[in-house]
Amino acid sequence: MSFRLSARSRARLSGVHPALIAVVERAIARTSVDFMIVEGLRTPERQAVLVRAGASRTLKSRHLTGHAVDVAALVDGQVRWDWPLYGRIAEAFKTAALELKVPIVWGGDWRTLRDGPHFELDRGAFP
Ligand SMILES: [Zn+2]
Repeated sequence: MSFRLSARSRARLSGVHPALIAVVERAIARTSVDFMIVEGLRTPERQAVLVRAGASRTLKSRHLTGHAVDVAALVDGQVRWDWPLYGRIAEAFKTAALELKVPIVWGGDWRTLRDGPHFELDRGAFP
């Protein structure tokens, strides 16, 4: 089974760093769990709203510079937030990143406030 990005997901990749888009493209081709792109590039205004709402802790989010994307798992076309699905999607992202030699970080690997839907370019390689 191979999945494809929807037109809406592609539109949401607008302004995202090409290296991260390449990882997304490869991940969707090899993932065992379908996903959509929820958000890529974010304005400072929106970031401030998210911080106020408690959805984000930083005003220096990687989303502001197009270095991060959030995904949502899809099962039979429906969005699901079940944690195990995100581990599987992360496997696809990590394999894709290795193949493309584009270091990424998965929010699900963070020790505090794990963020399963979040993937970003590694700060060391992509400051
Ligand atoms: Zn995010």
